[in-house]
Amino acid sequence: MRVLVTGAAGFLGSHLCDRLLGEGDTLIGVDNLSTGAPENLAHLAGHPRFQFEERNICASFDPGPVDYVFNMASPASPPEYLRLGIETLRVGSVGVENTLEIACRYGAGYLHASTSECYGDPLEHPQAESYWGNVNPVGPRSVYDEAKRFAEAMVMAYHRSRGVNTHLARIFNTYGPRLHPSDGRVISNFMMQALRGEQLTIYGDGSQTRSFCFVDDLIQGIVLLSRSDEHLPVNLGNPEEYTILACAQAVLDATGSKSELIFVDLPEDDPMRRRPDITKARTLLGWEPRVGLREGLQKSLEFFRSKAAAGAAAESR
Ligand code: UDP
Repeated sequence: MRVLVTGAAGFLGSHLCDRLLGEGDTLIGVDNLSTGAPENLAHLAGHPRFQFEERNICASFDPGPVDYVFNMASPASPPEYLRLGIETLRVGSVGVENTLEIACRYGAGYLHASTSECYGDPLEHPQAESYWGNVNPVGPRSVYDEAKRFAEAMVMAYHRSRGVNTHLARIFNTYGPRLHPSDGRVISNFMMQALRGEQLTIYGDGSQTRSFCFVDDLIQGIVLLSRSDEHLPVNLGNPEEYTILACAQAVLDATGSKSELIFVDLPEDDPMRRRPDITKARTLLGWEPRVGLREGLQKSLEFFRSKAAAGAAAESR
């Protein structure tokens, strides 16, 4: 297959590229590098079936005939989408429409990386796809939440009106190697703080929960969903739920760090709990995560160690 991957230099996009290349596909990876990192794709330089283009998908473009479009492009960590609010809204609207047009033109399949953020601060627990969510439409996180909700509506409209073979993955918190060490997410913050011997920053009292999926499990779910006949959203995430305090303890154990915890203000509209109901993915795709948090942190340790060491070397120069 000839496949377009947007957001190719991002955390998930780059892992997806590796997986698809491993299966023999030919890829065009695009990214405007606003939050993606070229080093995530450095190992693919010169690969005969991989071509990278630096471009913003908000300007329409034609990659030539493609069989599939994976739309992974968007800022995704809270500090980054707060910094890039308008860009986040545009990539989730104009960018999504542009990539749907490509799928429509070439009769390609289409998968959009949506998010558990569609559920907002959920009043139902765990969250099943049938839950419509509790989202503040004008709060600070609205630039991300509403972009992603608009994108889902746009994807469904192209499916219903134009017959595009679309898929919607509602992705819950995912971590692993290549999660940007300074993008402000909880696992990257805690790992870097623990490895540097700094205090772990707990926002609020740490009783809020998240459910953390290791990247390889998530990519497997994405690939299975892309080949399925399901057009409505499907949750992909690990249903093991942790308080942020328990997550901090797991990071201290994985790193062997003696770092202390420090409690700071909880960001506005920070969801109190998140846990996917993955019955639909289990039933439709035969998919479920295999890697638990402690094992996944071990698998991520080398990556974060090398980043912490590189940072320390730069500081001492
Ligand atoms: N969090 C924290 N300390 C940090 C970073 C995040 O306590 O250094 C908390 C944050 O308030 C949230 C959870 O960890 O409740 C997950 O945050 P993240 O930014 O990783 O993703 P979110 O699920 O909020 O999009």
